[in-house]
Amino acid sequence: MFAPSLPARRPGLASRVGAQARRRLWLLPLLASALFVVAVLVWAYRAEVEDQDARRATMIADALSSEAQLQSRLDTEMSYLQDLAHQIARLPKTAAALEANPVVVDGLRRLWLSVTWLDAKNRIVAHVPDHQLLSGLRSKDLLDSPGVSSHLMLEIHGEKLIVRYSPTRLLRQGLPWWLTRKYDVQLIDGYQQMIASVDEVPLRLEAQGRETYMVLVGGNMPGAYLELTARELTRPLWRTLPIVLVSGFLTLMLVATLLLRRQVVRISLAESAWRTEAAWRQAMEDSALVGLRARDAEGRILYVNRTFCTMVGLSAEQLVGLQPPMPYWPPDALDEVMLRNKRNLEGRAPRDGYEALWCHQDGRRLNVMVFESPLIDANGQQTGWMGSIIDITARKRLEARERHQAEAMAQQSRLTTLGEVASALAHQLNQPLTVIMGYNAGLQRMLADAGYDNQAVLHALAQQGEQAAEAGRIVRRIREFLTRRGPQREACDLGAVAQRAAALLQRDLQAAGVQLQWALASDLPAVFADPILLEQVLINLLRNAADAMASMGQRPEGLARIRITAQRSGERFVRLDVEDSGPGLDGRTVEHLSAPFYSTKSDGMGMGLAICRSVIEVHHGGMDAGASSLGGARFSFTLPVFDAQMQEASLADEDARASLEQDP
Ligand code: ADP
Repeated sequence: MFAPSLPARRPGLASRVGAQARRRLWLLPLLASALFVVAVLVWAYRAEVEDQDARRATMIADALSSEAQLQSRLDTEMSYLQDLAHQIARLPKTAAALEANPVVVDGLRRLWLSVTWLDAKNRIVAHVPDHQLLSGLRSKDLLDSPGVSSHLMLEIHGEKLIVRYSPTRLLRQGLPWWLTRKYDVQLIDGYQQMIASVDEVPLRLEAQGRETYMVLVGGNMPGAYLELTARELTRPLWRTLPIVLVSGFLTLMLVATLLLRRQVVRISLAESAWRTEAAWRQAMEDSALVGLRARDAEGRILYVNRTFCTMVGLSAEQLVGLQPPMPYWPPDALDEVMLRNKRNLEGRAPRDGYEALWCHQDGRRLNVMVFESPLIDANGQQTGWMGSIIDITARKRLEARERHQAEAMAQQSRLTTLGEVASALAHQLNQPLTVIMGYNAGLQRMLADAGYDNQAVLHALAQQGEQAAEAGRIVRRIREFLTRRGPQREACDLGAVAQRAAALLQRDLQAAGVQLQWALASDLPAVFADPILLEQVLINLLRNAADAMASMGQRPEGLARIRITAQRSGERFVRLDVEDSGPGLDGRTVEHLSAPFYSTKSDGMGMGLAICRSVIEVHHGGMDAGASSLGGARFSFTLPVFDAQMQEASLADEDARASLEQDP
């Protein structure tokens, strides 16, 4: 499995051809054996041919030497006959005399069957042995001498000596023993009739398959042939031992090859099943939405699937073999991740998975859910950990959005309630304020009619009336704003509005020991805004600054400072900054601070900045916050510069809205 991403791809043409060739490999031993057998056959054939030639040459030599020996034996017998012929002139012409002759006695003992003495007229002078004795005395010789007889004849002074002898005995006595053991030797005549044989039952009759050779005897045996027949059968080549052995070997090889083939077929079937399974597994791993990662006991990556690579933006080659820390761990939380990794490798990872934050190679962060399970090898030993990883970034994002939406909805509903309460409150306050103003006006009139002239009292009453009227205006504007009637915009001097707001808070600022600094540009153009709402914005910003500095406790004189800067921002905007030397915003953004109901104050409502921001935005301006060079916070806003066209457009807008409200 972890042939790292020893991955099973689709076999190419070359590998398929290779596989087919491998499947035919079992034929190789058979072919080699067949070649070997052919070589042995060729060698055996050539050896056999050479052997046959050698045997034939030996046989010819043996035949010639046998013939020579027989001739020499007959020549010897002839010389004995000549000896007898020399003695015969002195012999009485009787059979007894002849029989007693030592040459005759030796001859009969040796080879001769009979000796016949003929006179010049071919009449028998003497004949030994006697015919009557023949059956009794020489029967054994006759038995020893089967077959036809032959004779030697010598003529001397007209008389003839004829010696009959047995060619069979001649063969048996005249040839060496080893020759007769090796060959069946026969004498045959020109008509293929057997004259004599060394064997009682001549082999010649069953000479088939045996080698024979004939040589003409001549001399004392005219017309006779000496025939040698090998006793050893010449077996056909296919019956010789090497061929039998080789055939046996070939048969065994054939059987072995068949068994081998069966085995090869089984193996190739198993291999193809394995390939299919590997391809399936690879396809499944690649199509899985779950990232897979196998690690050894030290945390070294052994295997990753394609999904894992896509998740972290690294290839399998880049990942396999890596040791912690991994390149996909967030660099800013390495220590924490290392600790968690140690815990996991010790087998203490939560069973139902744990959440982690990883980094894609392109810097993107991703939330993942990791499930660790033991990696077991073929012997049942745990060799590491197998992790299944699910990318839950989208889910997390969705959850956060849902949470945010729920919060926004809750805030919205609170805002609506607040708006309704504030609207009702403004409505309720309007009444008593109008009454106060009425009473004040009535009282002033009555005092004037009565000629009362205490200026201090009259001034106080006039101030009271003005403030009540101001309060009435504020309440009305806020109510209008909350009931979504547009602000009553006009050309107003931002510096003057800021100074009015500061004047209203003067008492509080002084009590807090705040030093107020002004930096208003001299060429500041008028802005197009509702001065009463703008005043509220500035009051809020100044009060927040004073509160922030007061939260730092008692400070030496001159340390609590607020600077108000107003200047042009480009062609179309005026910008105003309120800076303080308080604790600062600690990285919080204006969006954060102006979220409705966000407050760090024990008695804060968290609506001040929210209202400020929406007032500024309603005026087509923008709000921003950051650090101040005074050491604390800076709140800034921009407002559009006033021009006549703008006013016309705004008036047309208001008319349209008013007609809509009247005719809902
Ligand atoms: P409230 O004044 O009721 O808390 P605001 O919306 O006016 O509501 O302010 C929200 C929060 O913003 C404050 O609670 C405070 O934490 C922070 N804040 C506002 N102005 C400043 C400032 N000048 N310096 C430091 N923090 C400030």
